[in-house]
Parts: sequence; structure tokens; C-alpha cells
Amino acid sequence: MADPRRRVPGTDRVLADPEVAAATARLGHRLIKHAVHMAQERARNGEIEPERVVPETLAALPGSASSIRPVLNATGVLLHTNLGRAPLSDAAIHALQQAAGTTNVELDLHTGRRGPRGAAAIAALLAAVPRAEAAHVVNNGAAALALAATALAQGREIVLARGEMVEIGDGFRIPELLTATGARLREAGTTNRVRLDDYRSALGPDTGFVLKVHPSNFVIRGFTAAVPVSALRELEAPVVVDIGSGLLHPHPALPQEPDATTTLADGADLVIASGDKLLGGPQAGLLLGSAEIVHRLRRHPLARALRVDKLTLAALEATLRGPSTPTAQRLRQDQAQLLIRAERLADALNAAGVPASVQRSEATVGGGGAPDVALPSAAVVLPERFAKLLREGCAPVLARTERDRCLLDLAAISPEHDNDLRRAVLAVD
Ligand SMILES: *Cc1c(COP(=O)(O)O)cnc(C)c1O
Repeated sequence: MADPRRRVPGTDRVLADPEVAAATARLGHRLIKHAVHMAQERARNGEIEPERVVPETLAALPGSASSIRPVLNATGVLLHTNLGRAPLSDAAIHALQQAAGTTNVELDLHTGRRGPRGAAAIAALLAAVPRAEAAHVVNNGAAALALAATALAQGREIVLARGEMVEIGDGFRIPELLTATGARLREAGTTNRVRLDDYRSALGPDTGFVLKVHPSNFVIRGFTAAVPVSALRELEAPVVVDIGSGLLHPHPALPQEPDATTTLADGADLVIASGDKLLGGPQAGLLLGSAEIVHRLRRHPLARALRVDKLTLAALEATLRGPSTPTAQRLRQDQAQLLIRAERLADALNAAGVPASVQRSEATVGGGGAPDVALPSAAVVLPERFAKLLREGCAPVLARTERDRCLLDLAAISPEHDNDLRRAVLAVD
């Protein structure tokens, strides 16, 4: 009998298979060849029949040439930093795709000359926040802070309340970022209390600006005092406010969360915020405020190093001009609706033999802000073992584990994805 190894199809033959060829066009030669060699190897070892080399190759291929994969966020944390924070709106995704090729990002199509980069995204930002005289966009919130500190306070002092010297997440400490720019920090007040006089006595000839940082991931309760922006404006120094989350206007569900419009109206000279938190857009750092200050930032040499990509500009403009974002929709949903969806999902899983029940739960906004707000939500409860299975499944789901159970919180899942969630559970059962 012929050695089965001789029947293992050669690489060229496998690559010529129409489905494999289509996948090569999508994923590139290198990825496909690796999958073909692995399948051939398994056939030579007798692990699979030689006829299975093509289907095994296809089955082993990743969904895209990037290893960043979609993950369903069933944690109940709306803006999960490990999951890429805000999911983009369809309008923003479409804009990203359009911008991916060669574009007019820095070209005026009427004159044929170089145009101002990002002008349309800036215009959209100013249309959304008419209070701001000017705006600039950089890579993220941290970059915006670094640019402001460098351009306005390098070799000088930033006056900051002691209770606002905060760590935002995984070792990112705002004071360390600020001093890394060559600015010095000048503390005002104590950990829990600061008064306008504390700021006054911290001011001096070396003051670059007064900074107010929203403590976005914790709250101080009890015997506390802070100075509102409306009082800080009386000081003889520019007031820069890092609001963190990127709300442009007050949000009824998040009364404690600062927003750009109110902060500017209260007298801030510059507001700094992230694009991918409550604004619901791409990663970006937004700088809004006085024309004089924004122009200084934009002209600073460091601005070039913090410049955003055309993809960011496209997604940001579409986020601002387009329909309401997934983040805004998730913030608006009510618990009754979430419970109905959870019941439906649990019923379908029970019908397929998966032990599932429903419970009320509390979701949170997440690293993006509003640490004190519990969003009433609903969760499907599964045995704990599902958490790991779902995370490692072909369509990964990140669940929340609570007291030896796996919770699928629906707060951060859009209703269009309920069926994907059901399929993901059934696939790992
Ligand atoms: C999130 C946050 C930052 C950092 O913004 P990134 O966009 O993550 O760089 C800075 N300051 C505050 C108050 C924040 O909440």
C-alpha cells in the first residue's frame, strides 16, 4: 500500500484551492502558508487524513490578519479599558473605512493646495461645544495633559490640589506625567480639603497654570472641601481642567460628572478630555478653550509628536456629527428592557440544556468616570466554569465572576449582539 504521507497534498496544490486562495487575498501569504504547513505536518504524522489538509487549513485561519479580535463585553463595565473602552458608532466605523486609503486629510480639494490637517474634526468639536473659542486634538488624554504642561509650564509650576494628585489606572499617575514634562508641581491644600486661599498662597511668579483634575475613578466622602472652577477663575493664573471623561454637555444620568461646556462656562481657560470614554469615540485627547492658549499648544514642537492619525480624525468627526453613540445608548437603557432581554437569553439557553437564570445587577460606567454611579442592569447567571470557556472561545466573551458564578451582564451589550452572546454560550457548552 502507498505510504499515506505521499498522498499529503503539496503546498502549491493547497494554495490553489479556491477557498484557500480567497483567504490568501484577505490574510496574506505568510499567514496562510503557516496554516498549510501545520495541516500538512499533522497529515504526515497521521493525525488527520491527507484529504483533510484543505479544510484543516481553512479552519485554522484567523478571522483577520490582526490578532485584535472582537470581544463581547458582558462585564457590566460600559467603558472597559482592557476591552478598548468605547465601541465606535456605525457612522464612525464607516468613516474609518473611508479614511483608510489615500484621503484629503491634509489637502484642500478646491485649491489643490495643502490644507489644515484635522480642520473638519476641529470644526465638529467646536460646533458641539460653541463655548470653546478653539480646539485641538492629540493622541489621548495623557498626551493632552503632557502638551499643556510642556507648553504652559515647562520650568515653571503647576498648582494642583493635593487631593487631585491621582493615579488613573495601572500605574498611570498624573503627577508623574506632569513632572516628566519639566514642570514642577506645587500642592495646594490637604488630601481631603482645599480652599481658594490655599491656591492663592501657592501662586507665585513661577506659576504656569492652576490645574484641576477630576478624580474620575474614586470619591472622597465626609469632611471634604474643594474649590469649584467658578471660584478658581478669580486667581491670577490660567485655569486648566482635566475633566477626564469627555462629556461635552451635562448628562442627566451622571449628575456628578463634569462636562466641557459647563466647565468652560464656569471660567476654565482650557479643558482636557479623552475621546474614548463617555464621548463614545476613538482614542483621542481633546483640548478646548481660549484661542490664545490653544494656538500656543498647537504651535509647540511637541504637538507634532502627539499628532493624531487620519483614522482618529475621521472617527472623531463622525462620532461628533453622526447619530448617538453606542455608549450614549447604553447609558440610556432602562432596567426593565435589560431584564426582558436577559429572560429571553436565559430561556433560549435553558431550552438548549444550559442551566441559566436571571438576576438584577449593577453596572458601572468604568475607568471612564462616574465612580459613584450604579447603573441598574440585568445579568444571565451561569455556572462559574463558563467564564473561562467563554473568554477562550472562538467568539470571545468577557463575563463577570461573582461569588462562584459567571454573570453575563447585558448593560454593555447592544441588543443586536444578544444572538451572538447566545451562540457563544452554546458553542462552549
Ligand atoms: C482617563 C483620564 C486621563 C487619561 O486619559 P487617556 O485618554 O486614557 O490618556 C487623564 N485624566 C483623567 C481625569 C482621566 O479620567
